[in-house]
Amino acid sequence: MKKILLGCIADDFTGATDLANNLVRAGMRVVQTIGVPTQPLQAEVDAVVVSLKSRTIAPAQACVQSVAALQWLKAQGAQQIYFKYCSTFDSTPKGNIGPVTDALMAALHTDFTIATPAFPDAGRTVFKGYLFVGAVLLHESGMQDHPLTPMTDPNLVRVLAAQTRHEVGLIDHIVVAQGEAAIRARIAALRAEGVAIAVVDAVSNADLLRLGAALSDMPLVTAGSGVAIGLPANFGIAPNAQASRLPPTTGLQAIVSGSCSRATNGQVAAFRAAGLPAVALDPLRLKQGAQAVDQVVNDTLALCQTHLAEGPVLVYSTAEPEALKSIQDQLGVQAAGQLVEHTLAGIAVGLVRLGVGQLIVAGGETSGAVVQALGMTQLQIGAQIDPGVPWCAGNTALSDNALHITLKSGNFGTPDFFTKAFHFIA
Ligand code: ADP
Repeated sequence: MKKILLGCIADDFTGATDLANNLVRAGMRVVQTIGVPTQPLQAEVDAVVVSLKSRTIAPAQACVQSVAALQWLKAQGAQQIYFKYCSTFDSTPKGNIGPVTDALMAALHTDFTIATPAFPDAGRTVFKGYLFVGAVLLHESGMQDHPLTPMTDPNLVRVLAAQTRHEVGLIDHIVVAQGEAAIRARIAALRAEGVAIAVVDAVSNADLLRLGAALSDMPLVTAGSGVAIGLPANFGIAPNAQASRLPPTTGLQAIVSGSCSRATNGQVAAFRAAGLPAVALDPLRLKQGAQAVDQVVNDTLALCQTHLAEGPVLVYSTAEPEALKSIQDQLGVQAAGQLVEHTLAGIAVGLVRLGVGQLIVAGGETSGAVVQALGMTQLQIGAQIDPGVPWCAGNTALSDNALHITLKSGNFGTPDFFTKAFHFIA
């Protein structure tokens, strides 16, 4: 197997997909793994994104997992390491961005790195070290009320300094605007002052591309997914159609939707309005225990089986806010969520056993449950269907062929996503 070029460590699953998607669009062939792989890579690629669930776990644990990922990536030949965190810099004064950065720097024996969550395409810009979300500062964006990682200070130099044992400095937009040579000179000056981590301003993709060129020999880069657009060029890679090529599609088509977000409700409504076959799940039937769940799974699969040969079939628990609230009142929010996720995952497994080879999953948590139930540990990243949502392909023990799967966050995608996505890979 050819050595990989770029090794990435992401602190959550959907963030990993976001990064992988940007790398593919910039021309790299990418596999996303769920956790540190225990099997060889399933495809020859330029970059691997190891997705962890380390954003809000104890800092020591996040460091151990991230260093394990680093060691695996180095063993695959990675020339540069990319630590990916959220574009809203989600963290607490204890971490985990600072501690993980420190641990990765130590493991790589490097004394300098950068930090920037800038992703202008998604409205995240950094100016004078201050993070903006759209037109407002981070602490006015709603992130100040986040249940796990409330962000009350938009000044990233201060935020990061509180989390790391290293000195933190700034490469501001005036330097970034001057290009690679100026950025490199500023890095040398900061280093001479004893600064080890530089927050970098970026307000446009042009800024990220200029920054990318200046990072060609930096062993460790820490960033949101934005900086990724400027790195493949350092390896002589330009955007190309091959990067998103997946194995040929096989099998039947189905959609499993456990998201109740507004966009998904619209997508379910559009699919039904087109007269296409859709099976609704009644969460209240699930509360009678394991036997009832099995019964619902079997009944649903039997209904699907009558339509699958004709085209895509939708199974959905998706409900409008009022209906959702009524179910949650009766079952409890957590219990309802877990029951529905578990049931939809069982249905996804059954669908693949029935010959489904192309599967859309709607909902972030639902996607996690489905991927786990299918036993998928590696996803090769294909073309983007809508911003942030690519087709992927991966092996599962349930099928001899690669399964094509797309994992759609609740609020992503146009109303016709459930039909459009299949035309995309036809
Ligand atoms: P999103 O990406 O839209 O947030 P998720 O899958 O992450 O979607 O979260 C949706 C949650 O709501 C899941 O835990 C899912 O099991 C739960 N859920 C889905 N449909 C229903 C329903 N009808 N009643 C109660 N809970 C539901």
